[in-house]
Amino acid sequence: MDTGQPYRFMSQAALRGAENFRFFADRAPEARDGKTLRTVDQLNLTGRTPIGPVGIITPWNVPFMLSTWKIAPALAAGCTVVHKPAEFSPLTARLLVEIAESAGLPRGVWNLVNGLGEDAGKALTEHPAIKAIGFVGESRTGAMILKQGADTLKRVHFELGGKNPMVVFADADLERAADAAVFMIYSNNGERCTSSSRLFVEKSVYQKFTRAVAEKAKRIKIGHPLDPDTVVGPLIHPVHEKKVLSYIDLGRSEGAKVAAGGEKVSGPGGGCYVLPTLFVDANNRMRIAQEEIFGPVLTAISFEDESQALALANDVQYGLAGYLWTSDVMRALRFSEELEAGMIWVNSENVRHLPTPFGGVKGSGIGRDGGDWSFDFYMETKNVAFATAPRRISKLAN
Ligand code: NAD
Repeated sequence: MDTGQPYRFMSQAALRGAENFRFFADRAPEARDGKTLRTVDQLNLTGRTPIGPVGIITPWNVPFMLSTWKIAPALAAGCTVVHKPAEFSPLTARLLVEIAESAGLPRGVWNLVNGLGEDAGKALTEHPAIKAIGFVGESRTGAMILKQGADTLKRVHFELGGKNPMVVFADADLERAADAAVFMIYSNNGERCTSSSRLFVEKSVYQKFTRAVAEKAKRIKIGHPLDPDTVVGPLIHPVHEKKVLSYIDLGRSEGAKVAAGGEKVSGPGGGCYVLPTLFVDANNRMRIAQEEIFGPVLTAISFEDESQALALANDVQYGLAGYLWTSDVMRALRFSEELEAGMIWVNSENVRHLPTPFGGVKGSGIGRDGGDWSFDFYMETKNVAFATAPRRISKLAN
């Protein structure tokens, strides 16, 4: 109801929200622990303490789950939180605080401020009492937050946009790869930072593979988000729908061919329904191959060989995730080493394992979430060195 995202995915995301709290709750007792480092006549105790009140600013695409992902580790680290959710999706953020308070969290530990980004969000990033900002959203908003927080030397953690490549070699399991390609762009309405919105396919199987993806895309059920059978629901807002449709027009005018979808469709409640869309015969210079559309729109490009695939995949301002499909283990190791992305899945769709680091390189972010990486962000590390022997101290004066 907050976003128009289909129930079948959001019911899973809600479970993930609970899992995020359980995961960090289990680790909370160890958050302060550090290392003991000894030298000959010195004992170092390294520990962590909560950094202080933190600001969490979140986007609208998966608002419930993404909020838990930032807030759970902040609380487990011992910080208090001021959360500013996106203006398009205020409902689930409210629900979360109510759940937390009814579970016994003292009032004032987790605070919710609704408001506009340039107003409430800006105030949070400039406030001297806020020690760090955990932000999920667009890359250009991240850049603004960096500037706004400069005077108060804010620590920032950014999870930003993506234009993630899926690279399919001819030796891959093409049936599974086609299902993964469809899942990774059309689930969650394509409003997903880790969606594989650029599809690179080896030339010898390009026609066959893109035809399979197009057929699957055409068979996806579009409908009311609360219908459990719905796969693609309405986009969140007419403003966003306009953006997605304008990219579809742009793709056509750039010379790419529509192999599936390519238009708005009417649906229950008169929402912002856009058909799952596949562009073929595109090239990497087109804006539909370079810019984040954040909707159910996939751009497919062919490649000749491994080095060209790598060059094309890396030729983009983003570097959040990458998906690689091949049965050649050595190639998978070689390619993943060179692919510019914070997270890479080989022969798999996006399956998140909570202790692993989550985050991007290049325009996709600064810092990592997950496991101990989250605690490092929400805490200060302090080292205390004890002398264990009376060292001779240099006398600079008598
Ligand atoms: P957005 O950047 O427009 O807004 C995100 C949040 O920032 C909102 O709460 C907004 O109110 C706030 N904001 C806007 N201007 C601000 C300012 N000047 N100061 C402080 N706060 C401000 O993003 P969106 O449209 O809500 O979400 C979509 C974007 O989020 C996409 O780019 C997507 O890739 C990204 N995203 C990234 C991840 C990730 O983990 N990397 C996950 C989900 C979404």
